[in-house]
Amino acid sequence: MGNSIIDPSRLEKIEFSNDEIARYSRHLIMPEVTLVGQKRLKAASILCIGTGGLGSPIALYLAAAGIGRLGLVDGDVVDFSNLQRQILHGTKDVGRKKLNSARDRIREVNPNVQVDLYDTFFTSENAREIVEPYDIVIDGTDNFPTRYLSNDVCVFTKKPNIYGSIFRFEGQCSVFAPNLGGPCYRCMFPEPPPPGMVPSCAEGGVLGVLPGIIGVMQAIEAIKLIIGIGDPLIGRLVSFDALKLKFREFKIRKDPKCPVCGEHPTITELIDYQQFCGIPQAAAAEASEAPIPAITVQELKQKLDAKEKFELIDVREKFEWDIARIPGAKLIPLGELPSRMSELDSADEIVLQCKSGGRSAKALKLLREAGFGKLSNLTGGIEAWADQIDSSVPKY
Ligand SMILES: [Zn+2]
Repeated sequence: MGNSIIDPSRLEKIEFSNDEIARYSRHLIMPEVTLVGQKRLKAASILCIGTGGLGSPIALYLAAAGIGRLGLVDGDVVDFSNLQRQILHGTKDVGRKKLNSARDRIREVNPNVQVDLYDTFFTSENAREIVEPYDIVIDGTDNFPTRYLSNDVCVFTKKPNIYGSIFRFEGQCSVFAPNLGGPCYRCMFPEPPPPGMVPSCAEGGVLGVLPGIIGVMQAIEAIKLIIGIGDPLIGRLVSFDALKLKFREFKIRKDPKCPVCGEHPTITELIDYQQFCGIPQAAAAEASEAPIPAITVQELKQKLDAKEKFELIDVREKFEWDIARIPGAKLIPLGELPSRMSELDSADEIVLQCKSGGRSAKALKLLREAGFGKLSNLTGGIEAWADQIDSSVPKY
């Protein structure tokens, strides 16, 4: 237990009640942990960015394990679509701030944990101040701007950054800690992918149980660094494939030319991470294209009620169509559209529709390039239809 990141002087004032001794007994009887290890856990502070799919198991298990202080950053509100994996939040919490339901749930699990709430999104403006009081940062957010921000702020403040990411059936985990001799996230990925290249979980889906595996791995790594046992996941990336039920391990080397942790760093303070990840540029490029003609769900309802002659084309996938559809729509999934354009008549008026309006805008551009002229895109897609026209249509 010689490699704990917790300075021994911090253990002097740590004491346990008899209830706490009983609570942590399964730790205390392990020679690798003992009372000293448990004191280290109680002395330690961890910041978890996000209380979603990854943040849920991270926060729940760390609280149960007896971490002394847990900081949570989240500016979001609980939605029904979160409940399939975000086990910090329950059905009764839909519409509440995630931070509040997280705090209540953690209190139930272990009232001895000090929970600090940061009701905000993690940004370049607030990152340093939020990270400062903590020993370890765990990134539970899974988007590129936050991933680079959390990496850089941890390099600058010399704190380990425990990384996890999930998509569909696969996930990854690593510990980035240049202060402990390892590489950082930028040593592995100096540049973010172009925006839109890597779909998010909201676009591509994620197996609900998957963040449980990856988040628990992140929590384990935090506990190992604090107690000072085992081989930390520094300089290694573990990737997990749920369908094959296989773990694979990759070595990650420290890049001497890394722009933040290398020998001659070129980035020495926090930057604009939205800009760095190309998000405003992509939005501007989109805005400079010919505008997409739009139709509201109210206008669509009027056209349907008036039995106007037009085609309503749903470009979602068949399995989405099976969940919910707008009466009168015809299904042509976006991927099949190029080969099925002959089913459409360019003389007809065509309304395109998907889940929320993104894919149908792509479909509109495809048809416009192919010479179709009378096109419009349903703003908000079937979600807006369910919200504003027909509440019996399920949302997914
Ligand atoms: Zn680096």
